[in-house]
Amino acid sequence: MKEFARKQRDENRIVGLVPTMGALHQGHLSLIKQARLQCSSVVASIFVNPTQFSPSEDFAKYPRTLPADTEKLENAGVQCLFRPEAKEIYPQNYSTYINVDGLSERLEGRIRPGHFRGVSTVVMKLLQIIQPQFAYFGRKDAQQAAIISRMAEDLNLDSEIVVCPIEREGDGLAMSSRNVYLQGIDRQSATVLHRTLQAAQLLLQNGTRDAASLQSAMQRVLKEESRAKIDYAEIVDAQTFEPLTHINRKAYVLVAAKFGETRLLDNLLVDLSDNGQLTTEL
Ligand code: AMP
Repeated sequence: MKEFARKQRDENRIVGLVPTMGALHQGHLSLIKQARLQCSSVVASIFVNPTQFSPSEDFAKYPRTLPADTEKLENAGVQCLFRPEAKEIYPQNYSTYINVDGLSERLEGRIRPGHFRGVSTVVMKLLQIIQPQFAYFGRKDAQQAAIISRMAEDLNLDSEIVVCPIEREGDGLAMSSRNVYLQGIDRQSATVLHRTLQAAQLLLQNGTRDAASLQSAMQRVLKEESRAKIDYAEIVDAQTFEPLTHINRKAYVLVAAKFGETRLLDNLLVDLSDNGQLTTEL
């Protein structure tokens, strides 16, 4: 992989990396599409990274659909698929981990201790191996994207981190490899995440800036869906992920809930222009 990437750079190609865990869907393909616009050589990686799963999580049963993934990547026009084995990434005596302090401990990090340490370590390794000019991440996993961006800046990496919009199903559900786990009624129930964010979006568009009001409106929508086991509905600063009481800068409205055994995330991006004009993006 290193040799191929070096050769691409020697040929003055702009190398883009799209890291994934496979079970590819339109969300992944939108990152590849963005990469193809900016890069002349696109590498996609598929690696179900063991270090980001806790022992109680779904590592063993995480969907693996390699033949279909390969075909999708070929059709999407990627130059290279990097599909390392776990023992190549973490050989015996492997001991080095990356931790982005603070950011990694909040929200998702609190619920999934050690998760982001695994994510930042594997992404750092992929960036070291491939040394892309650009690396593409989805805003669906907003905290992950913020952590990777922080890491790239803190460690003076030469890769620019590009965060791409959320791809959704027709009914608003954010696409996710884990959506295949949603059984029967839970698939319909899961749209409550999007409806919750829409409620917050409407209030924001009508001038609400106070986080407590937004949160109580969100809780009302979430509670209407008895199957949703809510982990959080929070409003945070877009860089630090610290809670905001009042939206006066770039922020995320974040929701996470479990439907049966399936944990799903979604978010609304809120931005303020220099003249105080508010924009929101689902
Ligand atoms: P995963 O395979 O779940 O690790 O995801 C690989 C990349 O695809 C991550 O950067 C995700 O944030 C991104 N991604 C996953 N779902 C979506 C989506 N619905 N829209 C945009 N990007 C996504």
